[in-house]
Formats: sequence, C-alpha cells, structure tokens
Amino acid sequence: MLGTGNAMVTNCYNTCFMMEHQGEYLLVDAGGGNQILKKFKEMQLPFDRFHHMIVTHAHTDHILGVIWVIRQMATLMKKGTYEGDFTIHCHQGITDLLPGLCKTLLAKGQAKYIEDRILFDTVGDGDTRELLGQKVTFFDIHSTKLLQYGFRMEPVENLSDGRTPVLVCLGDEPYNAQNRSLVVGADYLMCEAFCLYEHRERYKPYEKHHSTALDAGKLAEELGIKNLILYHTEDDHLDIRKEAYTREAKENFGGNVFVPDDMEVLILSND
Ligand SMILES: [Zn+2]
Repeated sequence: MLGTGNAMVTNCYNTCFMMEHQGEYLLVDAGGGNQILKKFKEMQLPFDRFHHMIVTHAHTDHILGVIWVIRQMATLMKKGTYEGDFTIHCHQGITDLLPGLCKTLLAKGQAKYIEDRILFDTVGDGDTRELLGQKVTFFDIHSTKLLQYGFRMEPVENLSDGRTPVLVCLGDEPYNAQNRSLVVGADYLMCEAFCLYEHRERYKPYEKHHSTALDAGKLAEELGIKNLILYHTEDDHLDIRKEAYTREAKENFGGNVFVPDDMEVLILSND
C-alpha cells in the first residue's frame, strides 16, 4: 500500500497501491502528486518489471500523481533505460483527459512518448484484460459523483495449480448492489472506510458518499468475503487506526480485517 488516506490527508499519502506477482508490477492509482516518486524510491521499484497501471477515476487524489508517473516513465525512455511500452488501463473519461493534460504540462521531450510508448487502453464496463497473469474485470462502481471503475482480479480460467486469490477493489466509494455478482465471495475485498462509525458526526462520511469501518464490516459479512482491506481513511487517528478500525469492522464481520499503513506490504494468499 503506497498510500492509505482520503483526498485531503497530510499525515499520510492518498490511497494508491502496487501489486506484484511473479516479479511483475501493477500500480493502481497514483495519489495526488510527486510523492509517488518517493514511494517508488522507498520500495526500490524495478522499473524494468513495471509496465502497467490502472487508474480508477479522475479525482485529484488519484490522478495527479499519474502525471508524475508518466513523467518518470518518459524520462527513463528518453535515457534509453526502459524497454517496451507503459500502458495505462482506464475508462474513456480518463483517456479523454489525461493524454492532453500531460502533453500540455510536460516538456516536449517527455510528451513525445505519450500515445507512442506511453499508451492508454480504454476499458468499458465489464471488459477484461490479462494483467499480472490474472484475469482483471473492470466494472462501473456507479458513483454518484464521477465515473469510476473498480476491478475484480482472479486466476485465469483452467489454472488448477497455485491458484491465486480473488481480489475485488471497490474504488473509493461505497459498494453498489448492481455489482454483487462480481464481488460476492471474494477472497479479498478492498473497501473504503472514510472514518469510524463512532466519528460519523465529525467527518460526515455519508454526506460525502463514503462509508465507515462499521459499514464495511457489515458489507463484507453479507457478501461472504474472507479478508477485508480498509483504506481511503481520515488521517487524524493514524496511531490507533489499525486497532480501532479493525475492532469496529469486526463487530459484524467474522473474517480477517487489514487496515494497512502507508508502505505496509500485504501478502495475499488462499489460506
Ligand atoms: Zn479518493
């Protein structure tokens, strides 16, 4: 988890994460800025194994860091130290926005790689791609604010040995029942928890189309989830967040709860 906070956090980074499988890397969102480059440095990211990213939606806390990722990749391409293409998988709204924005903001020597070796793969609701050797199904989370896609990652069909877990990322807004068939029974569910339910008067999660750790626990239990990962939280309680959010989610949920800190590594397994 490179970042675990909501849009306005300053004590941690905005929610984004890197997934790794068999030495290949996939980034999901990039937070709100240049700090994404620090995260790459801290994790000693091998750029030669990093060729794909997913962008869920165009809010500042998810997309502005992507400009820095693109700048980084363009710099490596210019230096001749990066092989192959870098592909950003995203919905049409982002494809309409991001290439033009980057071409305007970046230097010509960097911008020339956009849509040449830095590619935009537009995905629609229900489309699948193979990423990290897994089948990834993109879905519209039916956001009331702005078009946003979540995704389901599962083993490619007919793979009987070494089955990887099924993971669903709901993005940064509450679950919509229209996506039930893609979410139910997942091994891992990544779900936003803006704050604790007991702090709802202070943070007003429902007015902001967010949910709480208590709501996420209820949802995970109802959907038969095995492991619940909470993120996109407020940053006033980072010292007690793991313990307090876990406790609240577990009031209604019998599975495992993970409330990672920034730069915490989660090992996903079927056990
Ligand atoms: Zn967000």
